[in-house]
Amino acid sequence: MLKINIQPVTAFAQNSSLLICPVTQQAVLVDPGGDPQILIDLVDKNDCNLERILLTHGHLDHVGAAKVLAEHFGVTMIGPHIDDKFWFDALPQQAQMFGFSPIEAFLPDAWLAHGDEILFGEQQLAVRHCPGHTPGHVVFINHASQSVIVGDVLFKGSIGRTDFPKGDQAQLIDSIKTQLFTLPGEFIVYPGHGPSTTIGEERQTNPYLSGRFG
Ligand SMILES: [Zn+2]
Ligand SMILES: [Zn+2]
Repeated sequence: MLKINIQPVTAFAQNSSLLICPVTQQAVLVDPGGDPQILIDLVDKNDCNLERILLTHGHLDHVGAAKVLAEHFGVTMIGPHIDDKFWFDALPQQAQMFGFSPIEAFLPDAWLAHGDEILFGEQQLAVRHCPGHTPGHVVFINHASQSVIVGDVLFKGSIGRTDFPKGDQAQLIDSIKTQLFTLPGEFIVYPGHGPSTTIGEERQTNPYLSGRFG
């Protein structure tokens, strides 16, 4: 069963996740948003072999340490969907906007598309495109462990902000309903901020989706 280690980083307490195949110790790191030394220590302490870095979307608190870590571990950085390219081009401005230390713009080594599959060790992640918070946001589903890494699409009791450039709340709600709420209720949801939840709990109680706010 896939091992999932959550490590909050940056002043935004963004949840980086280190996913490890327990059979082979091959691993991927999702959304290394900052605090590179904390994440290097996390990889080292878990005695795993990092294969690549995966990114859910182009916001700085999710990608801020990606280049540093890709170089440190000699791995590639993959994702999100190409529609988030403008957020990578704007990394220096994002640093100002979010009050982070200055950063140079970079791009991932490859973009992801809806339906892509990522394999590491004996594990598989299914990629789904979930635009709305950002236009190129993707989520990573591991069916075997019934878990999904959702970035800033869905939170426990809330949904992602849509007041940034190219954000779209109707599109975000559609993404959640068609790409996440179609998963079985017992699936564990790992959001980019805050505690984990389940698909079933959010389907029943999330005020943005239960119809209470129309
Ligand atoms: Zn975000
Ligand atoms: Zn975030």
